[in-house]
Amino acid sequence: MIPSDPEVVVIGAGCAGIAAARALRAAGRSCVVLEGSGRVGGRAWTESASLGAPFDHGATWLHQADENLLTPHAGPACDHDALRERHLWLGTRFATPEELDDHARAADAFDAAVDAPREGPDVSVAAVAPRGSRWSASIAHWLGNQINAAPLEEISLEDFLKTDLGGPNLLPEQGVGAIVARLAEGLPIRLGARVDRLRWDGVEVVAEGVFGAVRARSAIVSVSTGVLASGGIRFTPDLPPEVMEAVHGLPMGLLTKLGFRLPEPERFPVAPFHSVRQVPSAAAPHPFGWIVRPFGRDHLFGFVGGERAWDLSREGPAALEDAARRDLRDIFGDAPLGPAVLTRWGADPLFLGAYTHARPGHHASRAVLARPLGGGRLVLAGEATHSRFAGTVAGAWLSGEAASRLAR
Ligand SMILES: Cc1cc2nc3c(=O)[nH]c(=O)nc-3n(C[C@H](O)[C@H](O)[C@H](O)COP(=O)(O)OP(=O)(O)OC[C@H]3O[C@@H](n4cnc5c(N)ncnc54)[C@H](O)[C@@H]3O)c2cc1C
Repeated sequence: MIPSDPEVVVIGAGCAGIAAARALRAAGRSCVVLEGSGRVGGRAWTESASLGAPFDHGATWLHQADENLLTPHAGPACDHDALRERHLWLGTRFATPEELDDHARAADAFDAAVDAPREGPDVSVAAVAPRGSRWSASIAHWLGNQINAAPLEEISLEDFLKTDLGGPNLLPEQGVGAIVARLAEGLPIRLGARVDRLRWDGVEVVAEGVFGAVRARSAIVSVSTGVLASGGIRFTPDLPPEVMEAVHGLPMGLLTKLGFRLPEPERFPVAPFHSVRQVPSAAAPHPFGWIVRPFGRDHLFGFVGGERAWDLSREGPAALEDAARRDLRDIFGDAPLGPAVLTRWGADPLFLGAYTHARPGHHASRAVLARPLGGGRLVLAGEATHSRFAGTVAGAWLSGEAASRLAR
C-alpha cells in the first residue's frame, strides 16, 4: 500500500533507498520510494535470462562479509578467496608459481608503501606507490582501474586507506541483486517515477516528475553523485556550494562488467571460480579481468575499469564486445564464445558511472554529503556518503539506515 501523504519521500530504490524505507517502516514512520527505472536494486541487479544463470550486472561480492549487513540474507554462497586461484597471462604464457610469488611480494610492497605513516596534505595513491618493479603497472592497473574504477593518480590516498576492504569476499549463488530485490518486497515503491525537481524551500518538501508531485515532511535522496553532478535532479533552492563541492570531489569511476556464454567450456582450461587476467603491455595497456565458470556454470564474466571503460562506453556496445573478445582471444586463442551480456552503467542517466572514489584532497567529502540539510528536511544517502564502506552495497545500506534516523 503506497501512502498518499507520507512523512518521508525517498528518492531511489537502490540499496540505500531500500534500507532507508525498511528502517522507516521499522520505526513506524510512513514513506514513499520514488524510483526512476522499472526495477528495484539500482547498481545491485541480478538477471538470469541472458546467460541462463544468475548474472549480477553490478555488485557481485559481499566484501568484508563478516561485517556486512547483507551477509545474513545471502543464502547459499561461497567464500570466493578460498576457491579462487589467480592466473596471470604474460602475453604468450601463464606466469609460473615463482612469478606469481614475486607478484604477490610486489603487491605486499605496494601495501607497505601506501600504509607507511606520513604527514602533510592528502596526495594521490600514485604519489606513494612503488615504481620500477616488473609488476608495478599490473598492480597499479589492478588496484586502480579494476578495483577502484579509476587510475591511482586520481584517487585520494586517505580515502583509499579509509575505504580499504578485506575478505571474506562472499559470492552468493543467487546474486547480490536478487538478495537486495527480496529485501525490497512489500515496501511502498513507485517504479517509473523519475524525480526531475525537488523543492525543499518550504515547511514541506515536494518531489516532482511526470508522475506528478509527492509532498512529505522530509526527503532522502539516494541517487549517485553522477546524477547529482549532472543536474539529474533540480533542487529548489540549489544544494549548498559546499555540498556541490563534495559531490564534485567524489566522482563516479567506471567499472564495466560483461559476460559470455561458453558453448565449449572445456576449451577454457581454467578451474571454476578461478580468475584470469593479462599483465598490462604495450599491446594491451588496460586489460580486462575475468572470472571463469562461477559455480561451474557455462559462462565467464569480466570487468574493465577506469579510462578504458569510459572510452569503450563512449564508443558503444559493439566496441566493448569487440575489445572483450580480443582480450579473451589473446589468452584462450580461438576457444568459442557464445552471446555476450553487456552493461552500460557509464551511459545510463540514472547512474552515470559505477561507484565513487575521492579525488586527492577530498577525503572529507563523504562526511560533508552525509550531513543533514535544512534541519533534516533533506538528507543525502548512498554509497558515496559512507566514509568506511563507500563504493559497496554495505556502505549504501548503512547510509540509508543512517539517513532514516536523520530525516525529520
Ligand atoms: C559493475 C559494478 C560492480 C560492483 N561490484 C560491487 C561488489 O562486488 N560489491 C559491492 O559491495 N559493491 C559493488 N558495486 C557497487 C554497488 O553496486 C553500489 O555501491 C551500490 O549498489 C550503490 O547503491 P546506492 O543505493 O548508493 O545507489 P544506486 O544503486 O545507484 O541507487 C540509486 C537509485 O536511484 C535511482 N535514480 C536515479 N536518478 C533518479 C531520479 N531522478 N528519480 C528517481 N530515481 C532515480 C536509480 O535508478 C537507482 O535505482 C559495484 C557496482 C558496479 C556498477
